[in-house]
Amino acid sequence: MDIHEFQAKELLSGFGVNIPRGGIAYSPEQAVYRCSELSGKSWVVKAQIHSGARGKAGGVRICKSEEEVWDAASWMLGRKLVTHQTGPQGKLVGRLYIEEATDIAQEIYLGFVMDRKLERVVVVASAQGGMEIEEISESEPDSIIRSVVDPAVGMQNFQAREIAFSLGLDPALINQAAKTIMGCYRMMWETDANMVEINPLVVTASNEIVALDAKVSFDENALFRHPHISELRDKSQEDPRETYAGDRGLNYIGLDGKIGCIVNGAGLAMATLDMIKMAGGEPANFLDVGGGASPERVLQSFKSVLNDPNVEAILVNIFAGINRCDWIAEGVILAVKELDLKLPLVVRLSGTNVDEGMKLLADSGLDIETASSLAEAADKVVAAWRATDSAYAEAS
Ligand code: GDP
Ligand code: MN
Repeated sequence: MDIHEFQAKELLSGFGVNIPRGGIAYSPEQAVYRCSELSGKSWVVKAQIHSGARGKAGGVRICKSEEEVWDAASWMLGRKLVTHQTGPQGKLVGRLYIEEATDIAQEIYLGFVMDRKLERVVVVASAQGGMEIEEISESEPDSIIRSVVDPAVGMQNFQAREIAFSLGLDPALINQAAKTIMGCYRMMWETDANMVEINPLVVTASNEIVALDAKVSFDENALFRHPHISELRDKSQEDPRETYAGDRGLNYIGLDGKIGCIVNGAGLAMATLDMIKMAGGEPANFLDVGGGASPERVLQSFKSVLNDPNVEAILVNIFAGINRCDWIAEGVILAVKELDLKLPLVVRLSGTNVDEGMKLLADSGLDIETASSLAEAADKVVAAWRATDSAYAEAS
């Protein structure tokens, strides 16, 4: 789960990381009011969306007067900001963070990620901050410092100091930098975050270390342990299709294609996506209905798949071990009737109670195509989708 920059900064500040003073605004009036609260001569207006690279998209504006703050705020609020991380649909700017502007002497990159191979937290740092880490690793690969944290002892002060020295920082800044690194690590550890990125961490003109930006994301499986963090969830920043399915307890990931998928088991769901692609189609989603899926759960899966307006055909692929094909079939029939489904539907059932399931589908009198293997199912759904697609083309 991602959170907003201002929320990440507030959390980090609780762990001793220096952040600029700032406040939230929901309107241009509030933005200007924040400036008077902060006083000073220049401010930064920052769009709060779950994305980096806002600066290049116009979502971070340094302003030298209250008029400029007003203009920047009214331009950003209500806009769907498109960055190279949001996809073409962009993300809605619902609130702004107004900060006192910082006088920057140096920009540093500081990231903490979970390395799955090493099963450890790895600190990645570079004295060439400001750019995205991907760009740094291309243009300045030698500047990248990596440091692996031993989970048995956690980040040690000497290790944090070593990173600070490797960054070539002024000796007078080493203690502050080490404190920042330790603070980020402790925050990551204590809140079950899986990523903390400060880009840029800056050295200010008055020789202070300040986190100018902050991006944190959390392990969703651990959120139950941190109610104060799960409260920070902002559904307006999520794919609405994923929110809809997630609220119904389904494992759903939205994709860009036209063929909706309802599958049991994450592995089989992945294989199904591959098979659709190999058959020449594009999947609209990943969806794992889970084990022991009731007819009601199958119905909710159909609703979630159909909630995506791009879906033009549906493939149900069930390999029933814990599941029962007759229950799945009941769910499919329920969904087709209740939702008055008009799209082509291909169902492949295999495993527990498959004969009962196939019989239910055959006896239903509904227009449901069946298949006995995954390859056949993928071919059939792609063919059926192509047929509707050309029917569409002819009709229009
Ligand atoms: P991002 O584009 O989403 O990563 O947003 P950032 O918060 O990192 O801001 C983008 C860039 O704007 C930073 O890399 C800085 O170069 C610049 N910036 C942000 N805040 C300030 C500030 O207070 N003063 C100055 N001079 N530049 C800033
Ligand atoms: Mn940034």
